[in-house]
Amino acid sequence: MIFFDKKNKSRIVVLGASESGTGAAVLAKKNGIDVFVSDMYVIKNSYKNILKKYKILYEEKWHSENKILNADEIIKSPGIPDTASIIGKIKEHNIPIISEIEFAWRYTKAKTICVTGTNGKSTTAMLIYHILNSAKFSVALVGNIGKSFALCVAENDYDYYVIELSSFQLDNMYCFKADIAILLNITSDHLDRYEYEMKNYVDSKMRIIQNQTKDDIFIYSNDDLVIIHEIKKKCPVAALYPFSYKKKRLTKAYMESDFIKIDTHNNEFIINKRYITLQGKHNLYNFLAAAMTAKLLNVSNKILKNSFLNFKTVEHRMEKVISIGNVDYINDSKSTNVNSCLYALQSLKTPIVLILGGIDKGNDYSAIKKIVIKKCKALIFLGLNNFGLHSFFDKKINTIHDATSMQEAVKYASELAQNGDTVLLSPCCSSFDLFKNYEDRGNQFKKCVYNLVP
Ligand code: ADP
Repeated sequence: MIFFDKKNKSRIVVLGASESGTGAAVLAKKNGIDVFVSDMYVIKNSYKNILKKYKILYEEKWHSENKILNADEIIKSPGIPDTASIIGKIKEHNIPIISEIEFAWRYTKAKTICVTGTNGKSTTAMLIYHILNSAKFSVALVGNIGKSFALCVAENDYDYYVIELSSFQLDNMYCFKADIAILLNITSDHLDRYEYEMKNYVDSKMRIIQNQTKDDIFIYSNDDLVIIHEIKKKCPVAALYPFSYKKKRLTKAYMESDFIKIDTHNNEFIINKRYITLQGKHNLYNFLAAAMTAKLLNVSNKILKNSFLNFKTVEHRMEKVISIGNVDYINDSKSTNVNSCLYALQSLKTPIVLILGGIDKGNDYSAIKKIVIKKCKALIFLGLNNFGLHSFFDKKINTIHDATSMQEAVKYASELAQNGDTVLLSPCCSSFDLFKNYEDRGNQFKKCVYNLVP
């Protein structure tokens, strides 16, 4: 495929006017490109104001084919699936489709630290950003989380970018190269967008290392069998920095009894795990990856230790809400697949009333079957269609309730939980059947929980 040369100032169409699309349009405009923005839905006022400020033409609630199919290149928001009819037409016209990340990268010389994986991307990206910010780097947190990469490049370019990358963003990246690529894990998710083929999803995640050279760095989990298998096949050329829970041959970040150890270029960092403010083995992995990144960027041990200590809980991820009558309530609304729920269940020591459900993306609940049977005294299915959950868990768990609102779910949970139990919202599913998004689901959970306080 031939890609648009940035010096050849032609026509770009941006599909989707949210954070990434608006940012891409601004960057294009600032570089003298003829840019048009088209969104199938209503554009938020905050984004419209930016488009107006930069005198960028746009349309909403509609895609005008005559204004789109004459583009030299399309920048597609990651939320638009390949099955959308306009995408089919764009492909028929052989117009290259790229992501905002790919586009923004053409206009910056900054170092890129890219985080992907099925779970832990946001937590790890935030942690790396927090450490580098504490170490006074000129750094921004962009991508799937935070601000638009393109908008940052357009308005106030930085020396370093920590970029959270979803598989949907990686899918439309071709020439982009990560200076430091971090791959946390690969487990089944989003299969509805990958023709229900795990291989397609894995290929997408592995794009994180595309175009890397021997001068670049690849940090990955050495405990993840899918990743190990892919590495054997792909033989990455970048310098490899694997991390694992226990020390293995070649691992450069690992746990040793109660200590996290990082050993890069004779530059050692050791810290007791009690300095880690987030609970659960999954967060140890996130801290290992983040600490290794920081050491490779020569952050001092003192700053690293302090950054570990003052990193705050990340909202909607194993967030302790409150304890009422010795029952803990935990909001893990961002747990939108089975693997993240597994880690949530593993990290709790008490009996659990689990609230789960929503839109199932092709889930196989086998991975949590044993632990649910062992630790969950009751399940509450919160969703419009709980058929998949019932067919898997009925007959395995005695107490199951259906709920169609958060209020109802929390009411059941509070009635079922007793002294010493935990009520955990860790849904395994996305939220769009009953909620605006996972934040709305988590916020409603917290509100309903606070309403229980006598
Ligand atoms: P992402 O951005 O990849 O969705 P988040 O950091 O937002 O990841 O966390 C999403 C969910 O995954 C939360 O439920 C969180 O507790 C869980 N989680 C965080 N890190 C990991 C990890 N390394 N492995 C598995 N689950 C994780």
